[in-house]
Amino acid sequence: MKKHVSNARLILNALGNMTEFLKNQDTGDPDTLDPDECFNYPLEIIRQTLLFDISVLYKVSNVIEDMLILEVVRVLDPDGHRMDLKEGRKLRLYLDARDRRYVNEVNAFSTKRTSHINVSGMGCDIMGYVYFPRDFGGAYLVGGDYFGKDTGLHDFEISAMDIMCNMLSAILLKTRFKEKAEIDDLTGLANSGKIRHETERILKRFRRKPSSCACIAMGDIDFFKKVNDTYGHIQGDLVLKEVAAIISESLREYFDIAGRYGGEEFLLVFDETDGKRTMEIVERIRKTIEAHRFQQLSDTGRPVKDKYIQVTMSFGVAEMTGKSPACDPQDWIGKADKALYDSKQSGRNRTTFYQDSSAQGEDAPK
Ligand code: GH3
Ligand code: MG
Ligand code: MG
Repeated sequence: MKKHVSNARLILNALGNMTEFLKNQDTGDPDTLDPDECFNYPLEIIRQTLLFDISVLYKVSNVIEDMLILEVVRVLDPDGHRMDLKEGRKLRLYLDARDRRYVNEVNAFSTKRTSHINVSGMGCDIMGYVYFPRDFGGAYLVGGDYFGKDTGLHDFEISAMDIMCNMLSAILLKTRFKEKAEIDDLTGLANSGKIRHETERILKRFRRKPSSCACIAMGDIDFFKKVNDTYGHIQGDLVLKEVAAIISESLREYFDIAGRYGGEEFLLVFDETDGKRTMEIVERIRKTIEAHRFQQLSDTGRPVKDKYIQVTMSFGVAEMTGKSPACDPQDWIGKADKALYDSKQSGRNRTTFYQDSSAQGEDAPK
């Protein structure tokens, strides 16, 4: 039988690692911002520190009267002690804890604290509550079983579980707030703050790696005011959402970020992509939008049968390389905006590449 020796030093180290992870969320390290990482890393720390034989993460899917519905999100059970716990499985538990096997889950949920139990001959079991507001997906329970540990849990292990669950809550909350703060509500694309941050990151990298290059493209829907004036704002919003969907579908495999920069303006960031390639991708998007039929809506927002509207879009592309004169995000975006302005001036529904000289043309770089 395995010998379980979690000790205070191990726990202190683990708490230090969690604090570090929480702190790193502010520095924008991409690994600590990835939603999966935000779960995986702290959960792994909890499992290793408290030396569980099995660890389980449940999402609290619903509470109906006296019944708690949990969904198993993740199970780590290398020795196959609990074959009944499969990822995705839903459990219905009574809040009056009729099922002895899940008494800790129910207690942790009811008290919003860590709950534990020692059953002699059966080992012991600990479950912690992870706070999460409802509109962020509700609460989670995280915990573990010890099959080889009959001596009971120490107070310090229970306190450590409590603290680690609180820290996991803080890590998850911070991730979700950050995600929400970077997203445009209407289209689900990045917002202007996130895009500026992204261009800043690329410009900084040029200093370290002068051989790299990147492009941004600014796009603006042509005569969009007319869409609103003729068909109403709900129609305008639908066009914005569908344009956003076309952009993100077309770009997924090539680029980093698509964002809504303002009203009907979009900004696309193509990292490690030169001007010629960017012009090809943007032209393809422009043609897809031109060919797309947008469902026509009535004043009340209902689809009108067999009626569609069409829109076009103009773009401006600006390339930057590590060898370009130093500039800030605003200068770079300004260049794309200038090229977009030229597209508008020369008839709309086209893409213009920004050229540093005063002579600007519509041609892609050769
Ligand atoms: P141009 O081809 O020169 O770009 O002409 P335009 O009509 O597209 O440009 P203009 O700047 O005159 O009008 C933009 C319109 O976009 C005006 C504004 O009401 C509308 N708009 C901005 N944000 C939203 C939004 O979130 N939803 C809807 N429905 N309309 C929006
Ligand atoms: Mg417009
Ligand atoms: Mg505009």
